[in-house]
Amino acid sequence: MKRYFHCTVCDDVHYGENPPEICPTCETMSSYVEVTKDEAEGYFL
Ligand SMILES: [Zn+2]
Repeated sequence: MKRYFHCTVCDDVHYGENPPEICPTCETMSSYVEVTKDEAEGYFL
């Protein structure tokens, strides 16, 4: 099951089974927290 993850540093949103080890946008390690679908869609706006 895929989930949404939000980078707390740069607001990047990742959709997948697991969060990236390193954020591709800000290159911070372990910066992702799991969020709900509604929260993830809010970050896109
Ligand atoms: Zn980031």
